[in-house]
Amino acid sequence: ILLGLILSFFLVALGISHKMAKKAMVPVRLSFKRQREFVADASHELRTPLSVLYSSLEVLDLEEENHLSDYSRQVMEDMKDELKRMTKLVGDLLTLARVDSGVANMNMTTFDLAPIAMQLIRSIQPVSKQKDIQVTANIPHVLQVVGDIEKLRQLFYILLDNAIKYTPANGQVSVTVAIQDKHWLLRVKDTGLGIQPEDQQKIFDRFFRADKHRSRQLGGVGLGLSIAHWIVTSHEGSITVESEFGKGSEFIVRIPLLLKKTATG
Ligand code: ADP
Repeated sequence: ILLGLILSFFLVALGISHKMAKKAMVPVRLSFKRQREFVADASHELRTPLSVLYSSLEVLDLEEENHLSDYSRQVMEDMKDELKRMTKLVGDLLTLARVDSGVANMNMTTFDLAPIAMQLIRSIQPVSKQKDIQVTANIPHVLQVVGDIEKLRQLFYILLDNAIKYTPANGQVSVTVAIQDKHWLLRVKDTGLGIQPEDQQKIFDRFFRADKHRSRQLGGVGLGLSIAHWIVTSHEGSITVESEFGKGSEFIVRIPLLLKKTATG
């Protein structure tokens, strides 16, 4: 409950300060900066206890393997799920606080994106299988790009995770990577719920969820696509969506193969 209250406070603080930033005058900027620092420091501090709690639960889980009742095991699994969700949320808040204070740097290198994309698709398969969602990939054998490996991995993960999350059972998700006009393109297409035309631009805003109730139930807080947008623009690229409500969505990322700048904040 305490962690819940703390996190709710962060969410409100981040939301308010984001709105304030848009209209900020000089005196407001000071308190806005302090709020950012507070969110960044507090998120950072929360990461350690959350990971300690998670490891403790795993140890308990192993030790008690043969003695736990089904009910206790279920409670433990629920606690682990909640902890994973909180850890992700705290991580997202920390990323955005760093973006806002200008200290979130991209670590640009030249690397082969193909094995990273394939590994990510493999790692998400237990989730897609659970929902009977077929994930197909069309990725070149080698794709040399310039970018931040971890951030691009996160970008793929956000889009793929959303596609699976917002696609009902027995649906299909396809991931295509291709080269076009000195750019590499990533397309993540699903046969899911789709997005209403009036929401299609808003989904890249922080905390925007097209259907709050449904998204919360699925574990979303509305930060993933704003982080995806930041990653893409930091790679001098663009992200767009084409969607038909009730039929499915396609997210299209377009990033230059060679970047003008080598480091972006
Ligand atoms: P969340 O954590 O809520 O998924 P995101 O920022 O990743 O946050 O997405 C914002 C909103 O955009 C979601 O709440 C959802 O309403 C909508 N959305 C994102 N991806 C999809 C998708 N593939 N299909 C349908 N709706 C989507």
